Amino acid sequence: MKAIRGFKDILPAESALWRHIESEAFRVFSTYGFSEIRLPILEKTELFSRSIGEGTDIVEKEMYSFKDRRGDGLTLRPEGTAPAVRAYIENKLHVKPVTKLYYTGPMFRYERPQKGRYRQFYQIGAEVLGDADPKVDAETIEMLIKYFRIIGIKDAVLNINSLGCSGCRPGYKLELLRFLGARMDSLCENCQRRVEENPLRALDCKSQGCVEATEDAPSMVDQLCRPCFEHFEGVTGFLMQLDVNYVLNSRMVRGLDYYTRTTFEITGPNLGAQNTIAAGGRYDKLVSELGGPDTPCFGFAIGMERLSIVLSSTGGFGASLSSPIFFFVSMGKPTRKKAMALVAEMRDGGFRVETAYIEGSPKKAMKRADKLGAVYTIILGEDELSKGVVSVKEMATADQSFVPYGELILWLNATLTGMG
Ligand SMILES: [Zn+2]
Ligand SMILES: [Zn+2]
Repeated sequence: MKAIRGFKDILPAESALWRHIESEAFRVFSTYGFSEIRLPILEKTELFSRSIGEGTDIVEKEMYSFKDRRGDGLTLRPEGTAPAVRAYIENKLHVKPVTKLYYTGPMFRYERPQKGRYRQFYQIGAEVLGDADPKVDAETIEMLIKYFRIIGIKDAVLNINSLGCSGCRPGYKLELLRFLGARMDSLCENCQRRVEENPLRALDCKSQGCVEATEDAPSMVDQLCRPCFEHFEGVTGFLMQLDVNYVLNSRMVRGLDYYTRTTFEITGPNLGAQNTIAAGGRYDKLVSELGGPDTPCFGFAIGMERLSIVLSSTGGFGASLSSPIFFFVSMGKPTRKKAMALVAEMRDGGFRVETAYIEGSPKKAMKRADKLGAVYTIILGEDELSKGVVSVKEMATADQSFVPYGELILWLNATLTGMG
């Protein structure tokens, strides 16, 4: 038996890094006022078709949708923003002036699997609901850049754009449509089909023809209405004051319909074409479109698989993240009781301990300790037992010390501090 195509196991060597990525995110985000929300994995299909948009790739061909036993249309969530907004409205979180949420977990999209892209993929997402101030956009992006720096990504690049609002975007769409109309033959089939409905899609289409045809396409930023222009200026102004560098990228429209005004992507090194490690933007109309009160929002999602690729290729994490293994060998029945007590004491002290309770020669146990990558082997034989000590052997150097029972934890802590 094998896992489904596009689905994969996160094995211990990688999951230590994942845990680190997640816990650092939650730590940093909480200093900016975010709290965790845990969302269901299944939602009504309608939630996504109404929010992400009927004409998008996600809704048209990437969702895992099915009917349950009652015949209700359900979908494995392809992203977290729409469920977060649904929960925000349903639980009346809007009674507070601003709500900041983060979440993590698997998302599902039926895409062609490739490096860093799976059909079940994991995101860390965050949403600020209830604040239109450009400060929110800038501060949240700054938080993200800071977080990346903390976990070891120093050369992340921020691309930013504005998609305007329902006042100024229709005019831009018309102009873009006129522009694309003259280049229809160069567009891919997909874009030709949906250009009337959503000409913006052609801007982020990856097909060669579409990329070339849209090279000199008019840009949204030049067509922003006064309030949208001022908002965008506010965002870039705050970013500069926060010392965050950005690249204005007028082609970046994101693959979801709910975005308004600010959109952004952060790209990381060592990923090739699939180099986006986080993306997001403002969605000021989504809450009201889904039946809630008028609520301006800003959010983003981080792709765990790609982040993990970047970090394992630059950081050499993995091994250093999982705590060192101590191998405790109890030799001979009379030593067992004391050995078990000492092992319990070590585990209570936070040490990671593997054990072997053996009779006779310790040779096999030592081999096992070596294979497990133990840094220290602690031996309690009958000799040691009679003296009230354990023998501690450093595996790398074969150096051996005798440590009295009562001093073991202190001794190990001091040695570990030296190691770190
Ligand atoms: Zn506008
Ligand atoms: Zn295309």
